[in-house]
Amino acid sequence: MKTARSKFIFKGGVHPDYNKELARDKAIERMPVPAELVISMSQHLGAPAKCVVKAGDFVRRGQVLGERNGFISVCVRASADGLVKAVEKRRGAAGGMADAVILDTTATPESAPDANSPTPPPINSPTPILPPLDWKAASREDLLKRVDEAGICGMGGAGFPTVVKLSPPPNKRCEYLILNGAECEPYLTADFRVMLERADRIRVGVEIMRKVLGQPAVRIAVEENKPEAIAALEKAFADIEGNAEIVVLPVLYPQGSEKHQIFATVGRVVPEPPALPIDVGCVVENVGTVAAIADAVELGEPLLERVTTVSGDAVAEPKNVLAPAGTKYADLIAFCGGEKEPPAKVISGGTMMGFAVASTEIATTKTTSGLLLLSPRRVFQYTSGPCINCGRCVRACPMGLEPAFISRAVDAGDVKAAEDAHVMDCIECGACSFGCPAYRTITQSCRRAKATIRARIAAEKAKAAAAAAK
Ligand code: SF4
Ligand code: SF4
Repeated sequence: MKTARSKFIFKGGVHPDYNKELARDKAIERMPVPAELVISMSQHLGAPAKCVVKAGDFVRRGQVLGERNGFISVCVRASADGLVKAVEKRRGAAGGMADAVILDTTATPESAPDANSPTPPPINSPTPILPPLDWKAASREDLLKRVDEAGICGMGGAGFPTVVKLSPPPNKRCEYLILNGAECEPYLTADFRVMLERADRIRVGVEIMRKVLGQPAVRIAVEENKPEAIAALEKAFADIEGNAEIVVLPVLYPQGSEKHQIFATVGRVVPEPPALPIDVGCVVENVGTVAAIADAVELGEPLLERVTTVSGDAVAEPKNVLAPAGTKYADLIAFCGGEKEPPAKVISGGTMMGFAVASTEIATTKTTSGLLLLSPRRVFQYTSGPCINCGRCVRACPMGLEPAFISRAVDAGDVKAAEDAHVMDCIECGACSFGCPAYRTITQSCRRAKATIRARIAAEKAKAAAAAAK
């Protein structure tokens, strides 16, 4: 297994304060199951899962709560035993509302009021949730089925259903399987700890994915500020067969973006949407997701929990916490010793692409990589001013866009002009807003424009389908 420096460096990008030292040396710690879980049916990209339980049901850990509901969707399973108190709309970190199962994990099966409640396996059953598979003997179809029934989606943030990613159309071939271990977001160290502590599981996940994808070459992308992770991966992959390489990337935000990772590792450029990585022969997967695939296949363990970095200068004890999906932020914070001081801002995710949240009653999902509590000293209060045409945002944009023009167009209500300026290419990385001396909310303008355009396209499609059905 070779380790080499990346030969390709993308244009643009920024260098925010990384602040990873707060949690990078904290080994992954499993937190006890909280008394109440809020398990969203929308933990992934695509259609929310269809809820199949009701208030009064007693459910077991691993039981399906929501079924996959379309091609771009994944199932949702219970991350602990518990009594379904309610199924109701709850707000997610990004602000949207979705059905969620509210689970009382302190209840016992006897407390279920509904005598007809489904009766899953006994508590503390030694039987794995799904039957373990020997990946070497299993067929490609069996492995894909397992990834699907385990409810696995990309854990790097986007939440794209993994079974879809692993099923390229017959006319497209995966030449490179790229593992995303860049973790370029400030403060976050969850992937770093997974690479350090679970490199052997990542290795098994790679072998499984390689088998499913037809033995592509492997590239593992890690930023150079994680030498311990690189050493752990070198050891775990020392005897891997075929074309495989660890690619050491320079520290540059947003190095972890899928498109930039493909360029950095194999020098290929993904064309404009709707083109996908597979159109240039690549499949990119986050390192945590790859380890989850290994657990789902070899151990029969669906994706029920994940590592989340809880950090920032306003949390008492920054940690990398292994928590069940559906853990409320307030419980995560309590597990980390509570607040050191009242935070001025709570962010779900990293400081560049994460979402500031107004409530710690919001719960984690399969994609919650971080929870940050920042004191007033770390939060800059600003008022946006007019653009001074300094061009800094243009230099920072890793997609080669003109963020200043796009944001002015959106502010003027001219979404068409933003569309013509390729706003749909924007990866919402925040590099433009980061350096803007006028503190303009450029990224938010791009997000608004993209949402408007997507809604228009969906309405046009629905209209065309209705016309065709007449
Ligand atoms: S315009 Fe989009 S892609 Fe370019 S820097 Fe801003 S957020 Fe990133
Ligand atoms: S960085 Fe800000 S002020 Fe400078 S050109 Fe971009 S939007 Fe205008």
